[in-house]
Amino acid sequence: MEPRRQFASDNYSGICPEAWAAMAEANSGHVRSYGDDPWTDKASTLIRDTFETDCEVFFVFNGTAANSLALASLCQSYHSILCHELAHLETDECGAPEFFSNGTKVLLLPGENGKIRPESIEQMVKRRTDIHFPKSRVLSITNATEVGTVYSADEVKAIGAAAKKLNLHLHMDGARFANAVASLKVSPAEVTWKAGVDVLCFGGSKNGVALGEAVIFFNKPLAEEFDYRCKQSGQLASKMRFLSAPWVGMLQDGAWLRYAESANRMAELMHQKLSEIPGLQILFPRQVNSVFVQLSQPVIDAMHAKGWIFYGFIGKGGCRLMCSWDTTGEDVEQFVTDLKSLL
Ligand SMILES: *Cc1c(COP(=O)(O)O)cnc(C)c1O
Repeated sequence: MEPRRQFASDNYSGICPEAWAAMAEANSGHVRSYGDDPWTDKASTLIRDTFETDCEVFFVFNGTAANSLALASLCQSYHSILCHELAHLETDECGAPEFFSNGTKVLLLPGENGKIRPESIEQMVKRRTDIHFPKSRVLSITNATEVGTVYSADEVKAIGAAAKKLNLHLHMDGARFANAVASLKVSPAEVTWKAGVDVLCFGGSKNGVALGEAVIFFNKPLAEEFDYRCKQSGQLASKMRFLSAPWVGMLQDGAWLRYAESANRMAELMHQKLSEIPGLQILFPRQVNSVFVQLSQPVIDAMHAKGWIFYGFIGKGGCRLMCSWDTTGEDVEQFVTDLKSLL
């Protein structure tokens, strides 16, 4: 029997048909290796089309590498990187950003609903400007955020303006960028380079490909020698076509947005059904493909015993229920029915 679809993470899902078909299509004959192939070329062109701008594109194996290598290319070891205290790069990357940038300090900013406020950036940068403290050079924001909220185009613009004024490069962790775009109903350009983003790590695996993220430099000079960084860190795939072809499948007819919209819609359904249960506390505004809900430990244990897997350690506690590209309404129904039977 096929294992049940879960709400633990969107990386529990398999590969969507479009990405799978593109991989199968790419699996024909010999082509050049290390990215010098027609698939990588086409995927990069489709990314430029999607963002309506010329940009430098690189494909790496995962999000930790994408973030760390991108950040390392934006600063020196004596600099600092500012991010939200719940940012994946701080909480879930095992110190990789510091490692790949040879010790750059990461400074944490507070902020409601997983989001940084522009004022707090200046406060942090101005707190210390003497030679004895690392100089601020990079600001990183996550869109959609770790707690399932989004920065609107105007909010990114305000943050971009604050960053520019303080001479900071702006990085965006877009592990769930597709879900953010689907939620905001804006063009990808509007929430990235037009708002001041220098580099975007565009997530593929949570969107429906097998693995791989695209590192997109809108500020092209910052991409100088990034290929060497990828190679040195073991992130240059020799059979690159299998990392890039799925992006062709996702982007050429809009599958990436359709799946993100579907995952968002399923989370909306989950949110609606949970909201109808008296006494249940929902933790953050539901804006993308996740719902955070407070459950007691006995209920959590009983749901686990019924075979449901979900996490309770992400964000600020509470259980995160994450929908994927293939989550169905029945999946949501089943989960809620089981939960109701325990309350
Ligand atoms: C999943 C995720 C990543 C990437 O994680 P990897 O496991 O390294 O691929 C990066 N940022 C955020 C916010 C994520 O949720």
